[in-house]
Formats: sequence, C-alpha cells, structure tokens
Amino acid sequence: MIPFLDLKAQYQSIKPEIDAAVLGVLGSTQYILGDEVAAFEREFAAFCNVKHAIAVNTGTSALHLALLAAGIGPGDEVITVPFTFVATVSAICYTGAKPVFVDIDPVTMCMDPTKLEAAITSRTKAIMPVHLYGQMADMDPIMEIAKRHNIPVIEDACQAHGAEYKGKRAGSIGISAGFSFYPGKNLGACGEGGIVVTNDDKQMETMRMLRDWGQSERYHHVMKGFNYRMDGIQGAILRVKLRHLENWTESRRSRAKLYDAGLAGSTRVTPPTQVADRRHVYHVYAVRSPERDRIREELTKANIQSGLHYPIPVHLQKAHEDLGHKVGDFPVSEKVASEVLSLPIFPEMTDEQVKTVADAVNNGGQRIAA
Ligand SMILES: *Cc1c(COP(=O)(O)O)cnc(C)c1O
Repeated sequence: MIPFLDLKAQYQSIKPEIDAAVLGVLGSTQYILGDEVAAFEREFAAFCNVKHAIAVNTGTSALHLALLAAGIGPGDEVITVPFTFVATVSAICYTGAKPVFVDIDPVTMCMDPTKLEAAITSRTKAIMPVHLYGQMADMDPIMEIAKRHNIPVIEDACQAHGAEYKGKRAGSIGISAGFSFYPGKNLGACGEGGIVVTNDDKQMETMRMLRDWGQSERYHHVMKGFNYRMDGIQGAILRVKLRHLENWTESRRSRAKLYDAGLAGSTRVTPPTQVADRRHVYHVYAVRSPERDRIREELTKANIQSGLHYPIPVHLQKAHEDLGHKVGDFPVSEKVASEVLSLPIFPEMTDEQVKTVADAVNNGGQRIAA
C-alpha cells in the first residue's frame, strides 16, 4: 500500500529527539506556554523572517486572532476565496464579519488578483488570500490593490510553511499571517497547534493578550479574550521538527519534480504549475483531470491512497448557505473542485513509490494488474 502520508515514518526518523523533548516538558511541568513555546516562537519568527510569532492552539485560532487584531468585527466584509479549507471562512465568521468571495486563478488555484478590485466595497476591512497547496498567491498585485484602498492583508499560510514569493517568505508580506501545525501539515504537531506571525508591534501585543484571556497582567482583563494557548509539549516537539523542515521541504520538492517528469505528456492529467519566482513547498501535489473520479477509483484498486482538496467550494457548502450563493457564482472554483486529485506526497516517500503512483495514473492501473 502507498499511503497518502506517513507520520509513522517521520516519527521513527527522529524518535530520540522527539521523545527527549516530550520528557523534558513532563519533567519541567511547563504544560501550557512556557520556555519551550517561547523559544519556538522566536525560532519560527526567524524562519518566516518576521519580528514576532504568537503560538496558539490551532491554525483557525491564528486566523481568528489576526482578524480581531486588525479590528475586524460585525458589519465588516473580509475578502477571501471559495476554493479553500472551510476554516478560512469560519475564522472570518467568528468575528461577525461577512466573507466575500473572489474566484481563483485556474493555473495557481489561488486568488485571482484581476477579480479582486471589483469585490471591494466601503465595508471591506481585510483581504485574506490563501497560499493553497504550498504555493503563494500572487502577492504583488494583491498588495498593490490593498494599499491603494488602505485595506490590510492577512495571509492564510496554513499550508505554506517556508514557501516564498520573489524571495519573501510566506507570512512576511501581509500585516499578519496564520499557520497551522495540524499533524498532516508540512510542519505538524503531535496534536493541534497554530501560530500567528507579524512585523507589527501593536498587532503582536493585541494578539498575545487575546490568546490568553485578554490579560495585560495576571487577572487584569483589558479585552474579552480566549483560551487559545499552545501546549508546552507541542512547542517542544515543534522546535525539534522545525530543525528538519528545510530538509523535508527539499524532499517534497524533489518528489514533486519526479511526479512532474513521470506525468509530463500524460493524456489523462495536468500536473500542477510551479510559477517562476515562487518557492512551492508542495503541502499537496494536486493534478487535474476531467476523469478525476475514475482515476481515483483505479488508484484505490491499486492500493494507492489519494485525497480531494477540496471537492465542494465553500460558497456551495450548506453551512454557508446564508451567504446566498448558487452554482455558477464562482465558475473557476467549481470546475477546479470537480477536477483536482491529490496524489501521495511526503518527505519519506521513495523514488520507486512516486514512479508507481505516476505509472498507475498514466496507465489506469493496468501495469499494476499485469
Ligand atoms: C489546515 C488549514 C486551516 C486550519 O488549521 P487548523 O490547525 O486545522 O485549525 C486553515 N486554512 C487552511 C488553508 C488550512 O489548510
């Protein structure tokens, strides 16, 4: 069987380091926040090339805090894309603001900047592009439009640890950015985790307070806050894993290159596009095909796992029917959602495994059966 990802293989490769990190926290009893989390914040900020990082309990909380610190609330509109994981849109809804969608670019599958300006109204208070699959959205035109209208940009970088746009790291371009450490992400905790990064001192102070019950000092609650704190054990584990992340990212990129070669000239699927000037970190390797469902079935029969990211765009989800959207409102997102297929990709995947998957995609599993 070729799994979609292999967390056991990753753990085995660094087991002594992880075990020692966990035992260290057990001994120190710094179970929430503490020295390990503070050190991880400094190291992750340096990794993103930003001044501050505030560790939280999930990526969704990170996006929520970023929006609140930017002053977003009821009556405001926040622009994002419908082709994303639902959490992007949920975080906007938590603030009481209304999500407003802009369709995606069919090549990068990220926000189409040529459609952004038409969605801006007097109520637009933030723009939240999503760096989908590990490739950054087209930030230059997005930032240019945002600056002209004086609207802050908050990056959903939950899939893009270490991705770059014209040499700039994901998380370093907008006013702030949220990352997720869900176990399957490129940098994953052993449980839930997230972080919000910013270069802005005031945003940082507000987010630090909101994360821990809105306290300026103990039992002085200056805002209505949350319990969004990161566990000490997760901070210690993430510090260990961060040291390996660049190697893992390069391995993901070389797996993707092998796939690209194996699928070049395929009559069945279109491989993803790596745009010049961007460093794609391949959280997901998604091909497109009109016969997506059939290929997926063939892979399953050949004992190869695959994924769908995401089969239904957010504007057509029942949970968000109050926004009043219908089929046809965002045609690129809808078409892409019906055609994308995520192939297995993880740093420990062997060349042989990549070739087996590519062959199965190209040949409909026939070579496997023969
Ligand atoms: C994973 C993810 C989130 C949410 O992160 P959690 O840690 O699961 O809360 C938000 N946006 C995107 C694009 C994601 O992939």
